[in-house]
Formats: sequence, C-alpha cells, structure tokens
Amino acid sequence: MGKLGRCKVCGKSSPLISSRLGVCIECIREKPEKALMVSDNVHAESRGAFNLPSRPLSDPDGIRCGMCANDCVIGVGKKGYCGLVANINGHLVRLGGTPERGILEWYYDDLPTNCVAWWFCPGCTGKGYPRYAYRDGPEIGYANLAVFYGACSLDCLFCQNWHYRYNSQRLSPLMSAEDLASKVNSHVSCICYFGGDPSVQMPHALKTSRLAMEKAEEEHRILRICWETAPVKAPFS
Ligand SMILES: [Zn+2]
Repeated sequence: MGKLGRCKVCGKSSPLISSRLGVCIECIREKPEKALMVSDNVHAESRGAFNLPSRPLSDPDGIRCGMCANDCVIGVGKKGYCGLVANINGHLVRLGGTPERGILEWYYDDLPTNCVAWWFCPGCTGKGYPRYAYRDGPEIGYANLAVFYGACSLDCLFCQNWHYRYNSQRLSPLMSAEDLASKVNSHVSCICYFGGDPSVQMPHALKTSRLAMEKAEEEHRILRICWETAPVKAPFS
C-alpha cells in the first residue's frame, strides 16, 4: 500500500492522495480555487529547487518576452518562467533558445520508435510512402534525431522528463542550430523536438529544421519534422 497522503483542503487521508501534492480528487473537482492554492505552493517549491521562477512573470514595468504562451513580462534583474530569458539592466537577453544557443541533449533513436505517436508516424507505419517514408512499413535501418530540449513552458509535478530542469538551471549542454542540423545524415528520416516543451526554444528549432530540410532536399532525401508540444499557459491564475 502506498504512503498515506493528506488533503490540506478537507483533511481526508488516503493512499489515493499524493502526499507530495496534498489535495484530494474531490477537492480538485469541487473546490478548485482552494485546491489551486495548495498546488501553486507545491509547484513554487519544486521550481525553487532549480532557481526557476515560481510562476509566469507579470511585472508592470517589465519587458514582454512573447516567445511562448506564458508571455512573461519580466522586470529588471529577473528571469522568465522558462529560465532562458532575463531582463538585464533593462534589456531582454535570451540565455538560450536562439539559433546560436540551444539548450538540449540529442541522440539517434532507431525507427520504429516507442513514441506515443507511433500509430500515425510514417517512420513506424510507412504512412505517406513513398513521398514521406522510405518504406511501406516500419522504417527499419533509419533513425529519428531525438532533440531533448532543456526548458519548459509548463510545470507538471510528476513529469517523466523532469530532469530537463537541470538543463534550464545550468544553461547546458549548449549547441547551435548549425551543429545540430549537421547531425542529420542519410540514415536520419525525421527530427523530433520534445523535452521540455520545445516552444520556448522555437527560434533554435526553426533554424535547425530549415538547415536540415534544405540539405535533405538538395540530396533528395526524406526528412520529417515532429513537434511534441502542449501550447498552453502554465496553470496559474
Ligand atoms: Zn479534499
């Protein structure tokens, strides 16, 4: 049996309540305002461990970022919600996510992959063959260039990829769009951007994609771009 969790709204204890979250499903559904006050604090605490702002910023004297759906307005000396943009002495400075400064890890993921999108992915099914896939079935012998971006516009407490926060905090590993695009060789038939939501590093992803697509077209190779995103605001009022 799991550890007993206790709801800070109604006081109920149960193994079905997350001890970390501290609020029960009934209170989430029926008293969302109170439940959100509890969860906001848990989010803030978990982000504080990585020096990330507790919530999207809205400083009336700040500078608007405009990169992702959170649209932080950042005051002097503060960092945006993603940790990759800062207001330094009144100037908006992008610490990551520009074409020169992608914060990411990458690897070759053999096709067919175990991706949640496998059932419509041409690399797993051959859908779109012969224009968008090399084989009329799983693209055995080819690989996906998996790009794990190290920052996020959201803050899921139980994120399976939570360690992206180390990348956001350390601003590393750092890689230019040009270097990343050079990893697309004749065995790569798709690039998948995930992480961390890729939207906060969109300029880097766009530049990488353009460079890689241009080269693929020149060499008459197939190249697909896969964008795993959840373009919504972080869950704060
Ligand atoms: Zn409750």
